[in-house]
Amino acid sequence: MKKKQFKAESKKLLDMMINSIYTNKEIFLRELISNASDAIDKLYYESLTNKEIKIKKKDLEIRLVPNKEERTLTIIDNGIGMTEEELENNLGTIAKSGSELFKEKMSDDKSKAIIGQFGVGFYSSFMVSDEVEVISKAYNSDKAYRWVSTGADGYSIEETTYDKTGTKVILHLKENNEDNNYDEFLEDYTLERLVKKYSDYISYPIKMEEEKVTKKDDKEKKSVEDKTLNSMTPIWKKAKNSVKDEEYNDFYTDKFYDYEKPLKIIRSEVEGRCSYQTLLFIPSHAPYNYYSKDYEKGLQLYSKGVLIMEKCADLLPDYFSFVKGIVDSEDISLNISRETLQENYQIKAIAKSLESKIKKELENMLKNNREDYEKFFKAFGMQLKVGIYESYGMAKETLQDLLLFYSAKEKKLITLDEYVSNLKDEDKTIYYACGESIDKIDLLPQVESAKAKDIDILYLIDYIDEFVLKVMMNYKEKNFVNVASSEANLETEEEQEELKKTNEEYKDMFTKMHEALGESVNEVEFTHRLNNHPVCLTTKGDVSIEMQKVMDAMPNNMGVKANTIMEINENHPIAAKIKSLYEQKDYETLEKYSKILYAEARLIEGMSLDNPTEISNLVCDILAK
Ligand code: ADP
Repeated sequence: MKKKQFKAESKKLLDMMINSIYTNKEIFLRELISNASDAIDKLYYESLTNKEIKIKKKDLEIRLVPNKEERTLTIIDNGIGMTEEELENNLGTIAKSGSELFKEKMSDDKSKAIIGQFGVGFYSSFMVSDEVEVISKAYNSDKAYRWVSTGADGYSIEETTYDKTGTKVILHLKENNEDNNYDEFLEDYTLERLVKKYSDYISYPIKMEEEKVTKKDDKEKKSVEDKTLNSMTPIWKKAKNSVKDEEYNDFYTDKFYDYEKPLKIIRSEVEGRCSYQTLLFIPSHAPYNYYSKDYEKGLQLYSKGVLIMEKCADLLPDYFSFVKGIVDSEDISLNISRETLQENYQIKAIAKSLESKIKKELENMLKNNREDYEKFFKAFGMQLKVGIYESYGMAKETLQDLLLFYSAKEKKLITLDEYVSNLKDEDKTIYYACGESIDKIDLLPQVESAKAKDIDILYLIDYIDEFVLKVMMNYKEKNFVNVASSEANLETEEEQEELKKTNEEYKDMFTKMHEALGESVNEVEFTHRLNNHPVCLTTKGDVSIEMQKVMDAMPNNMGVKANTIMEINENHPIAAKIKSLYEQKDYETLEKYSKILYAEARLIEGMSLDNPTEISNLVCDILAK
């Protein structure tokens, strides 16, 4: 029998398979089952037009036969089979998918990564076998052939006898070594697990014999029965009204390792240039690693019932990375590679329509089931905000109506739209205030005075919130304004004019006070907007005090500083006191007062003091007088 050599490219791929270092060698089974399923498909389609072929659909099957004595695993199908020529051409030459690998010059590591992910068909059997036999009889032939190869040194083909139509692939498993236990592929439960994991939805039964022990009259009786390992019809392909929510929930908790049922089940079917079915879930809580680098987004991608990718990241935008689920499309090639994935128009088209579907479902939940939506927002609202922030506002249109903020007036979470719909037409501003908690914001002097004017304020308590509003710039033509900024002009023009005059009058006094405080503030002035409070800090420009706090906490902070103004309530007795100190030219005491007032303002903002001992001494000095 003449040994033939593999084609050059095939040999290279084969070498890689033989010396494979992948941890998931197990994908070989998926590949062989998928080939078997294709072969049965082909025979079935052929039979639709060729009346000579007499098959019954119920007889079509794939069979796994592990043999522990021989250390072989055999995969049998009753599909279309291969002629001698086909054995030569199909198995002697690299698979189409494999040749993709060598189109570009790719590093070994990269190729390995791709193979690990997608497999390259039949050759992957060499990852676990040191000899592979293929016995096949084509449907229109009465001759059977045996193809055999130990990999590196080529292959040979000879005639043989085989009583059935179809193909039988016999894997002679490699010897176990330190790193690999190939024996596991002979264990029923491993095979069952792998079929469930990768090939559950293959539309033909994948059968295996199972030994059954029954007891009769105290005597054990052994018998052998067929067991079907795959469920065949995926839940997302069953008629919608035939599946109960409970089944979806079980499916979700099983498949995505969650202990809680999902908050929302989304099922849809799209027919078109790229047809697909999808079953998506919105979890009811964030996975423990959700907000960390370890979390990997993605949907399971199936093609014709075969799992081709565990986590296809390109199907989901980052801001919807919490969505779990499955996409099954017949239009996507089984051998799509990670490199071509991003360029794949079908994937792009699916991703686009999934995005709008998810958005719509969230909007519906917001409208019709506020309680659930708040639960959702508690878990994943941060992700939506990050989405707006990280896209520099590009995702604003998609996400802005999904945001919730606490409203001072309503005392609950509201949307921006709800805030705006409570405004009068001439109102141009959405006011907000920042702080650590709702209670703390409530106590801010600027908030109290705005509330006294019957203005609603959104309370921002996530560190990212204000940054998000800054990149959004506005909502429905209303600008966002921090009540603690100098922009928040809540007084009438006359009031402002009057204040301006007073501030002008005491300009020299403020300069003295400013000198006492050094660089910590940029200006000192009187204000009229604090009802009962003596003092507060406001900012001018883009950076607020809260933002500065966040930036200060960042490892690579660029020293961005808020432009801070210390505002003193002119209607408070303290204003009269400092005016009189100034008029008496008691600059030393004025300096002390300035420092204490500034310390108070910082404490109210929830900031710490740089010089607590100094402040404590100053306070005691004054108390002792
Ligand atoms: P791919 O499936 O990506 O084409 P493979 O290397 O897995 O690549 O298989 C190469 C070819 O061998 C297949 O396209 C098919 O024509 C043939 N083949 C493989 N397995 C079988 C089988 N069980 N029955 C019939 N033909 C098969």
